Amino acid sequence: MKNDNLLAIARAFGSPVYVYDSSKIISQYNRLFNAFKKVKHVKLNYAVKALSNIAILKLINSLGAGLDTVSIQEVKLGLLAGVQPEDIIFTPNGVSLEEIEEVAAMGVQINIDNLSILEQFGTKYPNTPVCIRINPHVLAGGNSKISVGHIDSKFGISIHQIPHILRIVENTNMTINGIHMHTGSDILDIEVFLYASEILFDTAKHFTNLDFIDFGSGFKVPYKDGDIETNIEEFGEKLTKRFNEFCKEYGKELTLGFEPGKFLVSEAGYFLAKVNVVKQTTSTVFAGIDSGLNHLIRPMFYGSYHEIVNVSNPKGRERFYSIVGYICETDTFATNRRISEITEGDIIAFKNAGAYCFSMASNYNSRYRPAEVLWHEGKAYLIREREDFDDLTKNQVDVDLFSKIQESVS
Ligand SMILES: *Cc1c(COP(=O)(O)O)cnc(C)c1O
Repeated sequence: MKNDNLLAIARAFGSPVYVYDSSKIISQYNRLFNAFKKVKHVKLNYAVKALSNIAILKLINSLGAGLDTVSIQEVKLGLLAGVQPEDIIFTPNGVSLEEIEEVAAMGVQINIDNLSILEQFGTKYPNTPVCIRINPHVLAGGNSKISVGHIDSKFGISIHQIPHILRIVENTNMTINGIHMHTGSDILDIEVFLYASEILFDTAKHFTNLDFIDFGSGFKVPYKDGDIETNIEEFGEKLTKRFNEFCKEYGKELTLGFEPGKFLVSEAGYFLAKVNVVKQTTSTVFAGIDSGLNHLIRPMFYGSYHEIVNVSNPKGRERFYSIVGYICETDTFATNRRISEITEGDIIAFKNAGAYCFSMASNYNSRYRPAEVLWHEGKAYLIREREDFDDLTKNQVDVDLFSKIQESVS
């Protein structure tokens, strides 16, 4: 997006504000879809947890994608957005049997990631086909917090437990219609992904009623110029070949599935904040903004890099700044970053603010969560209002137990 458009949005809707460029989401979807155009049946299920605004869900669904959900609330958001239940997959971890039953009753595809629930669900509902989440024990992912397929991970059923899965399937007479893995985010090495895929194919051979194989997600997107990203086109070519070979062996044209979150929405997002104060200390120039880890926690939580642009003065002389928040914690967005000269009141933009940014926002320090705006075909649409004081108090219960104490004290 152009700096001028971002600046106009900050003026019109106030700051801080999230902005999402629909054209980037559409082009990313098409890019991934086209990388697999030689597979007969492809289904992309967008991972709702990355960014769950209903307008975004509607946009992505209109492109042909379904949804990947991790809570019953995400399922309900999807249904509210008009997504058909059969286009939703539920891939929870550590949720109750009751929640899974409730989601299954809505007609959503269930994906089970532990033997205990598999056995209980299969015993009660032998006629509801389920997908199983396998842990291939492949170390992938950009850092230990987002790497979920390794040996100590809480996610998935270990490939070493396949005999146990088969025994449950036989005992309960349930049907396994899909095999799934999701090894982590920020995968750089295609060969690692392909290696994990082979493990999935080996697993799939044990199940005779499959409709689909879901390869999860974890595509890396660039965060700055020169950043390495997953080569989707090369990956598409290689996995297509293997997938089509496997389908021949298996004797059925299965559906190839992915659940991209970050890949679809990360680069589409911008987070705009205003500089409240420029503070020079003995060693550093801080720019303090009208936001903090309550609105964008990724830099503090994962050490994520977000490129920062001064959209009020994009061509100014560059200086070094540490960009910090207004929260009473050390909430540093960036240290010693070269940015066009900042004056108090300037609007700065954080890039790659589409995935895991608003969806992780909180009310810490009793601040409001920001507004969200969709930029679509040259126009800005408000898709979430900024919170107000009522949002902070509406669920609080004023028990008024202490006025008597005060009376007796005074
Ligand atoms: C979070 C998640 C995804 C999306 O991961 P990205 O790195 O955002 O693409 C996909 N599948 C499952 C099961 C997830 O939990």
